Amino acid sequence: MKVDMDKLVSLCKRRGFIFQSSEIYGGLSACWDYGPLGVELKRNIKEAWWRGMVRERDDMVGLDSSVLMHRAVWIASGHEQGFSDPLMECKACHQRWRADDTKDGRCPNCGGELTEPRMFNLMFKTFFGPVEEEAATIYLRPETAQGIFVNFANVVDTARKKLPFGIAQIGKAFRNEITTGNFIFRCREFEMMEIEFFVKPDTAEEWFNYWLEERQNWYIKLGINKENLRLQQHGEDELAHYARACYDIQYLFPMGWSELEGIANRGDFDLAQHAKHSGKDLSYFDADSGERFVPYVIEPSAGVDRAALAFLVDAYDEEPDKNEIRVLLRLHPDLAPVKVAVLPLSRNETLVPMARDVYAIVRKCFATQYDDAQSIGRRYRRQDEIGTPYSVTVDFQSLEDNAVTIRERDSMKQIRVPVAELTRTLELKLSGEPLEVLPPGGKYWLGFEG
Ligand code: ATP
Repeated sequence: MKVDMDKLVSLCKRRGFIFQSSEIYGGLSACWDYGPLGVELKRNIKEAWWRGMVRERDDMVGLDSSVLMHRAVWIASGHEQGFSDPLMECKACHQRWRADDTKDGRCPNCGGELTEPRMFNLMFKTFFGPVEEEAATIYLRPETAQGIFVNFANVVDTARKKLPFGIAQIGKAFRNEITTGNFIFRCREFEMMEIEFFVKPDTAEEWFNYWLEERQNWYIKLGINKENLRLQQHGEDELAHYARACYDIQYLFPMGWSELEGIANRGDFDLAQHAKHSGKDLSYFDADSGERFVPYVIEPSAGVDRAALAFLVDAYDEEPDKNEIRVLLRLHPDLAPVKVAVLPLSRNETLVPMARDVYAIVRKCFATQYDDAQSIGRRYRRQDEIGTPYSVTVDFQSLEDNAVTIRERDSMKQIRVPVAELTRTLELKLSGEPLEVLPPGGKYWLGFEG
């Protein structure tokens, strides 16, 4: 379905996924706070990426480099000179605009006259140490990649990895973006998940194509509809100065096709620059061929926040339900903030002790919520809206047969299983087994929805 961004923003606020930063002071634009459910979603995205890209591969290692780095890093990388957008300032209202956002040289806000474009650096500047002087200037990193390049030799020396291999990192990045908006799509503080995959130069193209596929598949496996993804090649004129080839994985966001992740063949630009500026040898000796060379690097660079937005948009659904509309997030179980909800049929005092016992069992294995407020129907709806794949209901019959009902979010179908089988059954269902597959000892199948 076509998702309305305002509805999604409102759901995110209402249910505790995402809040405006510093909201009680009027908000800080393009900065967002992740609430109790948002933080779980974000952690799950990062966890899925780390698992798929690092833990399950033997050609990748992780890194966590510091946000603050030597200023020389940004001089070598070209960011201090080149990480900028041309801006025009309105002579009347003093608002600044990206040249591409203006028409006929007039201010889009008040129609005033604009200055000639001037370059505006997107890096946040701050001072290192107590003295606020030019010599103490450093930057908040606008990407995590440079932390990887400057540690290339450290990793080669310690990780016992042979080419081809990659270094992966997740961390905060900061960009003083000019054009913001579209919720968490473009923020001034955000998180990145970046890989620098080092290869022999003559294999770079092959690996570039490999990563284009691999990264699209990662989104698809986590539930993104294939139809909503496409590749967009950067033309010669759009290529960054270092890139030999670059594709964006685009997603069909509510505002149209936009970049979700960038994948670039950066050649040997970064290692060569850092070798030149630092005076350190950043070449690699290939013991098999006896050659020494500077590796090429393929960079799949993704944003956690942008991925979160894509997963939320893709999962959002509405369907008619009696006289109302059922809103649900069809999130992949790996991403869902809450995996299981335990819901006693009512607050009846004979039910609650058993429901609490079931909760105690389930929460040891999965992120679980216990909820006994309001009617069972409303509680199901609430769990649908936050994307909880399964709800477990304890009813009066449970007291007699020691069995509970598992209700599936997407189909609203239910099965009944003995409490002794509950966690094993949930584990199977959460890993993709159809609900209809009854566990041994499963007592009966119920078709009704709740
Ligand atoms: P855009 O042109 O959309 O601002 P970019 O081309 O500058 O993006 P890259 O430098 O390629 O982005 O960054 C890699 C990834 O990091 C992007 O694909 C995106 O997912 C994420 N990203 C970049 N800038 C932001 C931002 N300001 N807010 C949120 N995510 C971002």
